[in-house]
Amino acid sequence: MSDDVPAHPTDEQSPADPDLVAFSDLARAAYCPRQCYYARADDDRGVPSEVVETMELAHRYPALRNGADLDAEPIAVPPSTYRDRLDALADRPVWPALANPSERDLYLAGKDCHGITHKLLAGTAVGTDGADDDHDEPNTAADGPAAPPVPVIVSPGAPHETGVWEPQSVRAVAAAKALAWEREREIPRALVEYPAHAVVRPVRIGVRRTAAYRRALRTARGIDGPPPRLRDSPRCEPCEYREECGIETKSLRSRLGL
Ligand code: SF4
Repeated sequence: MSDDVPAHPTDEQSPADPDLVAFSDLARAAYCPRQCYYARADDDRGVPSEVVETMELAHRYPALRNGADLDAEPIAVPPSTYRDRLDALADRPVWPALANPSERDLYLAGKDCHGITHKLLAGTAVGTDGADDDHDEPNTAADGPAAPPVPVIVSPGAPHETGVWEPQSVRAVAAAKALAWEREREIPRALVEYPAHAVVRPVRIGVRRTAAYRRALRTARGIDGPPPRLRDSPRCEPCEYREECGIETKSLRSRLGL
């Protein structure tokens, strides 16, 4: 990691209660239980420097919007698109809090899980233009000091076409549940940010998302040996434990002409 890239806190710091499951393990359990098993056995669970640099974009929006040389930044879309998206985001009520969150990299420990929320937004409406497929009411909340705080998970990857990938949804719900436990109040919403794309998506903590979170919690707690491999899943292609797992992906098979 280069000197000017800050170390990134991870979810895996030892909790006071060893039964608490790390947010990142819940996300991995939702993605592939076997990947969760490998990650837990991995001695090096630090965040690579290039991932940290991408995630740091989420803390530099005003500078990125107003003149930074975007060609030199780790963004995943053309600079003009990136700036247009930031301009659109800046028109939304959530912008001041996103650009200047009340807290960042805040460690949370709830009843069942623990980890880092990358931002905590206080006293803000969560109006964004992203779709939320688990909502049964408008995707906005009351503004002002009485509004529930909003945990934000920052992802270095690409957003889903319309909503939020399930592992990130599980992680966002976990952060909301832990925050609710600590603050002793309902936390009805979270956000997932994709700073390489300048995209922010809302996550309403509804019935379906909560059920997925509970499934991941049961799965993560139940892992006591290597779970079965996924079969012919596109999830294996980008998996960092592919070699260890021994999965031969379709693209490898086609490269080998098999
Ligand atoms: S390669 Fe596929 S089956 Fe193996 S751990 Fe990764 S995602 Fe799971």
